[in-house]
Amino acid sequence: MALTSKHLHDALRTVQDPDLKKDLVTLGMVKDVVQSGDDVRLVIELTTPACPMKDKIREDIDGAVRAKAIEAGEPLGKLEIEFTADVRTANERTREGANPLPMVKNIIAVGAGKGGVGKSTVSANLAVGLARYGAKVGLLDGDIYGPSVPTLLGLADIPTAARGNMLLPFEVHGIKAMTLGKLVEPEKALVWRGPMAHGAFKQLATQTDWGALDYLIIDLPPGTGDVPLTMSQLLPLTGAVVVCTPQRVAQDDARRAVRMFQQLGIPILGVVENMSHFVGDDGKEYDLFGRGGAQSMAQEMGLPYLGGMPIHMQLRANSDAGTPLRNWETPALGRDIDALCQRLASQVSVQALGGFVQPTLSVR
Ligand code: ADP
Repeated sequence: MALTSKHLHDALRTVQDPDLKKDLVTLGMVKDVVQSGDDVRLVIELTTPACPMKDKIREDIDGAVRAKAIEAGEPLGKLEIEFTADVRTANERTREGANPLPMVKNIIAVGAGKGGVGKSTVSANLAVGLARYGAKVGLLDGDIYGPSVPTLLGLADIPTAARGNMLLPFEVHGIKAMTLGKLVEPEKALVWRGPMAHGAFKQLATQTDWGALDYLIIDLPPGTGDVPLTMSQLLPLTGAVVVCTPQRVAQDDARRAVRMFQQLGIPILGVVENMSHFVGDDGKEYDLFGRGGAQSMAQEMGLPYLGGMPIHMQLRANSDAGTPLRNWETPALGRDIDALCQRLASQVSVQALGGFVQPTLSVR
């Protein structure tokens, strides 16, 4: 005798996805149960390849199946657990078809109350980081007044290309990217006014041949101007990330950005605290700007906190050089970006299930 399929499903029913707070069978995550003699192979489909809970889920499945074998008095040979991922769509309107980008599963805006807090840097690294996990990712430089994606991704020597009336995105560092910075003279980009800004953003978003994407990250201009309004009317947003530095004044600006997204009906996926502290050569940590400020703001406003990024010299250097993948050559930096990507991806998965669970993200 061996464990039956019912035994295995019963065991999997006791294992919860820690973010989604439901069991794997109910969530439809059990894709295959293959038995050969006493050996068992389980294929579990996650909602994102960047799932931060993969190890925990693996441990829980292992424990549950072994416990079930003991309870049933059946032998258990080799237990193999394989993970796949199918990123789910979080937006109602995407499902209903009123969407100019039907092949994009999740659109995530990254905003900030003011310039210089690292919004573009965070956007680019979230995009590249999610792609490193195996997701299909696009980055739209919506900062039409001061596009920085050409620098951040090193696009200077890459020619622009179009097919028919569609722009072909730049395919670099594992992602697809589009920016106005490669289409108009940099000085001209600064003078967009309301209707022009609307038109420029619309064209970039909808006349780029993105193809199928799991995540499209939109780097918004700082503050609360025309572009977020256009964006919210045009695209079915999954939600927004707000980047903030720890200082009190930065938080006040970030609060305004949060309220703007809320007024536009865009869920807040979380707050990122950039430049949270600085680690010296001696390994000592300096809280230059008052580490934890953005995290407290997130808590006060009842928003998920996605994590922080210290000031890293390598991050600045790799951003200036347009070589984001080199950030992962500095292990501490790579870990910080990966953690942000994982928490963001799980917030998107939570939204995909209707946003009915409160996040319980553990933070440092
Ligand atoms: P924003 O988009 O908010 O205006 P940027 O992303 O352009 O800000 O960042 C401003 C500058 O700060 C850039 O030179 C960037 O490389 C640098 N920077 C951002 N975050 C960090 C960080 N955590 N460590 C070091 N430099 C950073």
